[in-house]
Amino acid sequence: MVKVVKFGGSSLADAEQFRKVIKIIQAENDRKYVIPSAPGKRFSNDTKVTDMLYSCYETATKGGDITGIFTTIMDRYNSIIKDLGLDLDLTKEFENIRYSIIHKAGRDFAASRGEYLNGLILANALGFDFIDAAEVIFFKDDGTLDAEKTNHVLGETLLSHENAVIPGFYGVMPNDTIKTFSRGGSDITGSIVARAAEADLYENWTDVNGFLMADPRVVKNPCNIQKITYHELRELSYMGATVLHEDAIFPVRIAGIPINIRNTNQPEQAGTMIVSKTDSYDTKRIITGVAGKHGFSVITIEKDMMNAEIGFGRRVLEVLEKEGISFEHFPSGVDTMSVVIATEAIEGRRERIIAALDAAVKPDYVTIEDGIALVAVVGRGMRNAKGTAARVFKAIAEKDINIRMIDQGSSELNIIIGVSDAEFQLAINAIYHEFVD
Ligand code: ASP
Repeated sequence: MVKVVKFGGSSLADAEQFRKVIKIIQAENDRKYVIPSAPGKRFSNDTKVTDMLYSCYETATKGGDITGIFTTIMDRYNSIIKDLGLDLDLTKEFENIRYSIIHKAGRDFAASRGEYLNGLILANALGFDFIDAAEVIFFKDDGTLDAEKTNHVLGETLLSHENAVIPGFYGVMPNDTIKTFSRGGSDITGSIVARAAEADLYENWTDVNGFLMADPRVVKNPCNIQKITYHELRELSYMGATVLHEDAIFPVRIAGIPINIRNTNQPEQAGTMIVSKTDSYDTKRIITGVAGKHGFSVITIEKDMMNAEIGFGRRVLEVLEKEGISFEHFPSGVDTMSVVIATEAIEGRRERIIAALDAAVKPDYVTIEDGIALVAVVGRGMRNAKGTAARVFKAIAEKDINIRMIDQGSSELNIIIGVSDAEFQLAINAIYHEFVD
């Protein structure tokens, strides 16, 4: 059994957190490959090391003095080393990094050192090998991950390491410069390593007990999701539920490796298991989660006999395509068609869009309504549990909420409902409490 374990910044923010991490890794021999983030926040208004490295680089490019901020960064690492009582001296590494930042080795290089240094410390503390991500994670010239080369080289490399620490967040470009993923990208490294190691499980350790069924800012004390499919997760993440970097799903998904989100501060909790496929679902709760987003507009187009006009929908979408606008939903009736889009995408060009639609499909009416929020009810169980949609709509109706749009995904995995911004919280709570008591 091989487990790849990734620890986020708050799990490695100071020596106390490191101790918890070391204990977790040592508790199971299967936890063979470890991906650390850079030290994150120790308290709410603390600064992440990655952010300090970015400002260090900004200061250096402007010719400023980085001594102060660089010393603060060194202190963060040195206090971890000292507190853990490690026999490790990073003076040379610090010197090289300081020199490279001053000589403009690149913004990504600077940021990546947060993970690099944390990796050296963790490898030392665990007695694991250290594999520099720059030797095994490859980007292409266009800046995207070279997934196949990475998988091949990394896979081969891991074969000769029983245990190893591989820092998260960065890799190397074809011209040998360092490149990082987008923020939070250590999740992606963990997923890439899990695929290359042909791991049985990718554990992603953070500071929450996994995914919640609803946003705790909207629903009071929402329940935890025990099991979720990659598909459901995509739906919920798209609607704003974040715990995991969204690009972290793809590498493990290809290999069908489950991801387990765990809490470093409460390791006894089982967390959330993300799996590729499962037929089982909570027959009592049925839904997996409910999430939502504000800031949408609905363009409604009405025309008598619309249904007889072949190519009507295509002409409508062509107008949006020419404007470079992507749409979210496209529900239609016999003589009406609506397109739901992000309000910010049409800002400043409403008149032009209406005129273009007038010319393209000669409608009877075109209206744009703003202030729409979308609510997504997601759950693999909806396919089998008859009457789920009815329960969702009844719950909303009982609260006197006006539904502006309904769209059920063709996989029957989700129901999307448009409501006014003002009724967003009420709608999510009504749906949540219909299924969870
Ligand atoms: N340290 C990086 C960040 O703060 C990457 C990560 O933590 O995943 O975004």
